[in-house]
Amino acid sequence: SAVVDAGAIRSWLGLFAEEVGSHVDLLTQLDAAIGDADHGTNLDRGMKAVSGALATADAEPGVLLKTTGMTLVSTVGGASGPLYGTFFLRMAGSASDADSLDPDAFAAALRAGLEGVVARGRAQAGDKTMFDALAPACDALDEALASGATFDDALRAASVAADAGRDATTPMLARKGRASYLGERSVGHQDPGATSAALLVATAARALST
Ligand code: ADP
Ligand code: MG
Ligand code: MG
Repeated sequence: SAVVDAGAIRSWLGLFAEEVGSHVDLLTQLDAAIGDADHGTNLDRGMKAVSGALATADAEPGVLLKTTGMTLVSTVGGASGPLYGTFFLRMAGSASDADSLDPDAFAAALRAGLEGVVARGRAQAGDKTMFDALAPACDALDEALASGATFDDALRAASVAADAGRDATTPMLARKGRASYLGERSVGHQDPGATSAALLVATAARALST
C-alpha cells in the first residue's frame, strides 16, 4: 500500500519549490493588490534555500520536514515565513522518527501542520489566509481516507478542496495579516498565501500519488 517515505517527501518539496519558482510573479502580483508585493519573492527565496538544505540532508521524513521548517523560518521572514515554517515543524513533530508515513499518518501530519499555523497566527475560517486553502484540504483528505478512498484519490480530493478554498478567498474581507489593514478594500482579491498553499497541496497530490 501507499507510503510516504523520504524520497516522496523530497519529491514533494522539490516540486513545490519548482511551482513557487514558476509562480513568483503571480504570488507577488496578488500580494501587490492587498499587501506589500513580496509573497512570491519571499517564498521563492525560502524554497530555494530549502532545496539547498535538503540536498545535503540524508534523513527520514521527520528530519527533512524539520530542516524545511527551520530553513523557511530563517530565510522567508514576514508573516508567511514563521507560518510556513511552523507548518513544516509541526508536520515534522507528527512524523517523528518514522521511516515512512502511511496515508493516515500523512493526513495526521498535514493536520498537525495546519494546527501549527493556527497556533501561530490565530486565523479562523473566512479570515482570507492560507488557512482557507489548507483547512479544506485537510478535511477532504481525512474524509476521503475515512470513506475508503485510495491515497491517490484522497490527495486529488484534497487538491480540489484547496483550489476551491483559494478561490473562495476572493470575496472575503481580510481579518489577519497586512491585507486586514485594507478593510473593505481587501474584498475582490485572491489571497496570496491561500494561493501558495493550494500549490503546496497540488504538488503533494502530484508527488505522493503512486
Ligand atoms: P507579509 O504579509 O509579512 O509580507 P507574505 O506576503 O509573505 O508576508 O505572506 C502573506 C500571506 O500570509 C497572506 O496572504 C496570508 O495568506 C498569510 N497570513 C498572514 N497573516 C496570517 C495569519 N495570522 N494566519 C494565517 N495566515 C496568515
Ligand atoms: Mg507580503
Ligand atoms: Mg512583507
